[in-house]
Amino acid sequence: MNEHNKEHVKIIKLKVENEAGPGFCLAKWHHVTMYLQSGETHSCYHPMPHRIPLEELQDNPSALHNTMHKKLERKEMLEGGRPKGCSYCWNIEDLGPDYISDRHLRNTGIYSEEKYNQALQGPWDQNVDPVYLEINFGNECNFKCGYCHPKFSSSYYNEAKKFGPIANVREHNLDLGHLNLYTREEENPYVDAFWRWWPELSKTLGVFRITGGEPLMHKSTWQVFDMLAKDPKPHMELSINSNLGVKAELVDKAAHKLVNLQKNKQIRNFRLYTSIDTWGPRAQYIRSGLDLKLWESNFHNFLRTTGAPINLMITFNLLCVTTFRSLLEKIVEWREEYGDNIRFDTPYLSRPIQYDINLLPKEKYLDLMNNHLDFIAQNVAHKKFTQVEYDKFKRVVDYMKTTTYSQERLSKGRKDFVNFFTALDHRRGTNFAETFPELSGLFNEWRNA
Ligand code: SF4
Repeated sequence: MNEHNKEHVKIIKLKVENEAGPGFCLAKWHHVTMYLQSGETHSCYHPMPHRIPLEELQDNPSALHNTMHKKLERKEMLEGGRPKGCSYCWNIEDLGPDYISDRHLRNTGIYSEEKYNQALQGPWDQNVDPVYLEINFGNECNFKCGYCHPKFSSSYYNEAKKFGPIANVREHNLDLGHLNLYTREEENPYVDAFWRWWPELSKTLGVFRITGGEPLMHKSTWQVFDMLAKDPKPHMELSINSNLGVKAELVDKAAHKLVNLQKNKQIRNFRLYTSIDTWGPRAQYIRSGLDLKLWESNFHNFLRTTGAPINLMITFNLLCVTTFRSLLEKIVEWREEYGDNIRFDTPYLSRPIQYDINLLPKEKYLDLMNNHLDFIAQNVAHKKFTQVEYDKFKRVVDYMKTTTYSQERLSKGRKDFVNFFTALDHRRGTNFAETFPELSGLFNEWRNA
């Protein structure tokens, strides 16, 4: 974050703190992620998603976002409270007054006098059309990343259905028991509600982000492209979260459609987001289904065809710690060719616990994390990375530095780690010890503990 932006965040932070209270977050009003295959929604990735009651949608399709559950959280924020579901932000804010949480960033990013006053002064139970919407039309996906869930991936779903739940794991045991999914977009009442809401919603929607599953495998994504060509929304940014692991022709077709939409001023601009957590065989183990050769070729083709940015989403987890440097080096290499069209973010994964970096013994692995941070710092000096990228990764290092688990939590988490990856290896024919030789000693130690 440059000094000007930092100053802006501070000003909005202070204003919100003084006028709206310590828990107010504009994301509750103007930011939404919704999963239509399961009929769930949340204001951002951090609070657990909650169910959208079908009866609330009958006369009000905007209840895809404006659920009674969320309205009650808005009320709590307006009354000075900090809703329990937002603990990710409270944990960061409780580290000290200088720490910047996602709440501060989102309040600044979304802020306008009009939006702020509407949220602060309007009735707590008003319906609001968000400025940012992330949507999941279905769970069809060719990947089954271990930390993902069958709810978001049909491949993971089919695997879990075949093998059943992992009996000896407490968190993320892949039990499909109460999972109620709409597998066909054409027969999903939540998809119907979305299209009923669209004429109103699209008038003011600033960012429309389609996620997955793999959105390029979803009919509705292609329907959105065609609809925007017929009924332009020149104020709208269109973003796609693709795993870049689908056939080259599909990525190419999407790239051309997006370029045309922008060229014809049918949208304001577009962005592509893609996930990658480290580099080499370990990356393929974490994001099962990933073929790095295909991924990198799709990545270059998209960048060269569109000239638009790609945002790398690095979900920082235990399995990236030892080789994260290799991905940072790739980013430096890509920036030689594409400059700041290559962007990245490093949110950390705290759940399921088997992916949490805090299971690792700190005396050894914190040094490694500091080395990664130093590498970023050196490259900030050489203008290869930005200060905001440094600050974001520093948050991950601080998360490791300041989190102390009880012995009981540690041993249960480590047991889950061993049992989970043993089961995944059995299901997928993979081999943890061969893929992560540097962690195999630890794996054996935890198994025998
Ligand atoms: S307070 Fe934090 S967790 Fe809650 S909605 Fe805002 S950004 Fe998300």
